[in-house]
Amino acid sequence: MQSERRFSQSRPRFDPDGLILGSTLPHLMFFTLEDGALTRRLARPSACRDPTQGDLRTEAGRESSSELVCEHRRGEGDVPRSRTLDAQPRPRLPHQAYANERPEGSSAMRQTTTDFERFGFARGRLTPQQRSWLLTIDFEAFRPHAVAPWTTAARHWAEASRLGGWKFSIFIALEDVVRLRVEDDDGYRMLLDAIRDLNEAGARFYPHNHCVFDPTTGQRPQDRASPRAPVTAYRKRPSLFYDVVYRHKLEFRSWCETLVESYESFLTDAGISRPEKLAFRAGGWDHGVTREDVADYLDGLAGMGVTFESSGSSGVFGTRSWRIGAPFGENTFRLDRSLIEVAPCDFADCGAPVASPQFASWIARLLFRAPIWMPPLRRRGVLVTVIHFDHLFHEGKGDARRLFALRDDAEVAQRIDRFLSWLSYVRRLSGLTSVRFDELAFDEMP
Ligand SMILES: [Zn+2]
Repeated sequence: MQSERRFSQSRPRFDPDGLILGSTLPHLMFFTLEDGALTRRLARPSACRDPTQGDLRTEAGRESSSELVCEHRRGEGDVPRSRTLDAQPRPRLPHQAYANERPEGSSAMRQTTTDFERFGFARGRLTPQQRSWLLTIDFEAFRPHAVAPWTTAARHWAEASRLGGWKFSIFIALEDVVRLRVEDDDGYRMLLDAIRDLNEAGARFYPHNHCVFDPTTGQRPQDRASPRAPVTAYRKRPSLFYDVVYRHKLEFRSWCETLVESYESFLTDAGISRPEKLAFRAGGWDHGVTREDVADYLDGLAGMGVTFESSGSSGVFGTRSWRIGAPFGENTFRLDRSLIEVAPCDFADCGAPVASPQFASWIARLLFRAPIWMPPLRRRGVLVTVIHFDHLFHEGKGDARRLFALRDDAEVAQRIDRFLSWLSYVRRLSGLTSVRFDELAFDEMP
């Protein structure tokens, strides 16, 4: 296999924790509602810096620390050879430099269409048969040294979701799975037990990936000693697609075959069966930047046998145009290759204290969505909420965010109980039904 050949040369040690924990948190990012879409804004845009100095992808822990891994692992200047980007490499001052890059006109800054729609891959909106709540968890950044608290938390989560009648759709980072299997056999078995428990409690596991890895060792195929250079001409967060196609020059479809193999062996090890319909979420919401990229991405997913895609995004990463997902009611549509887009429309920090700004803004965002809440306006749709499991272990916020600082199992359990009780509260008010991907049904589905 193409990727295996590449790996035979050198297998540098990969220690993402050092990278993640050593990074700074220069940007306080937050979400606002704009045209009903999730909008990410840089609270201090002028503070954008050369990514080698600090990483704007470590914002406020809104997204998992694992999203950073690939970006941190970049090697050379990363000038794409097999692909050409639609613009010349840009100067390093990202925010100002991207100002002209938004689609023409100020109204375009308020665009709510995903790249899938913009590039013409959407094939018509799909109306769900019921008002559903699809709770998705990105299960990533679990490290051998932290697998014990992670496992304890996963078991508690299983118990709590059993009690609450919750069904979670979990995107598990395959690179983390493979590395754990190689580096910590006992830890891997412990995690598999917890995963089986979650599965029995009604959760389902789907593949997730941020970067190229050796399918037998989980190691990244990069020389750690190589100097880090900023990725300057890429409009997305440089993660899955960037790493596979631009950095490692692999065919996306063939990389997907490797992913499926890793996913299948994970399912076998865990003793759980493959969900009837597969869902996939690209690490870093990175499905490529050009029309050709997106076509290859969708082709790869179709080759994997995926039914539901869930990483729709738009705009330019690091600018005000950047958006993840689509508004509730507009986030489900048919895609090329018989795929169905089920884009996120909500983010929740499962580790946030009830009185925290993160928590308050989450509830405020939900409250402001009349179509979800208000009986006369209630409409059918799928509220897709994104949760990151590793948030349970982080403490503080903004610049003071300390990743994996919370090691007290009892306190983590409390966070889980508190979060799930708030989910119950929202469910009661909204009348939404908790469903998994495989339970989604649409009016026009074959
Ligand atoms: Zn991820």
